[in-house]
Amino acid sequence: MNYHNKLLEIINSLTIRPKLLLHSCCGPCSTTVLTFLAPYFDIVVLYYNPNIEPIEEYEHRKSEQIRFIKELNDSRITFLDCDYENEKFKNKTIGLEKEKEGGARCGVCFKLRLEKTAQIAKQQHFDYFGTTLTVSPHKNSQIINSIGALLEKQFGVKYLYSDFKKKDGYKKSILLSKEYNLYRQDYCGCLFGRNLDD
Ligand code: SF4
Repeated sequence: MNYHNKLLEIINSLTIRPKLLLHSCCGPCSTTVLTFLAPYFDIVVLYYNPNIEPIEEYEHRKSEQIRFIKELNDSRITFLDCDYENEKFKNKTIGLEKEKEGGARCGVCFKLRLEKTAQIAKQQHFDYFGTTLTVSPHKNSQIINSIGALLEKQFGVKYLYSDFKKKDGYKKSILLSKEYNLYRQDYCGCLFGRNLDD
């Protein structure tokens, strides 16, 4: 499935300017996604990333996300914070600690973050929910979009399919991150992943 084409189909079919709750993992990944989507959606960026460890790293990535939105200075984009539910992430990934990046632990991690996004989108009457996660070439867009499709059915809120890495999306995120002097981390987020990479 080409999820980039699916995104374009959704955009081309829009008759109104919908409200989108966009989960973002970090400032750098959000750069290209926000500049691409802002002409079509009113966007609230949701920072729900209980997987990011340690807490200092979590706070640093969050502050860079907030700074980027502030510097973009686009009235169509706002920010919504969440609690740091690291214990929840740890409990959900018990037994998966030794999985490599891209394995079963990551599927659980994607679902945890997307589920919260869908839940808030439902509660706060958003038209769509989505995520920046598909920018990364290290993350499987087929898995992320399959989870989004399941949650769309479960919560009754439309999921914004995507593969933001396509059409040089990832490359553009690197260029924009440099332009805004954003901090770019050298590991995905959890300490399990980082320690295995070391
Ligand atoms: S490696 Fe990344 S996606 Fe996988 S579980 Fe850790 S933080 Fe989540």
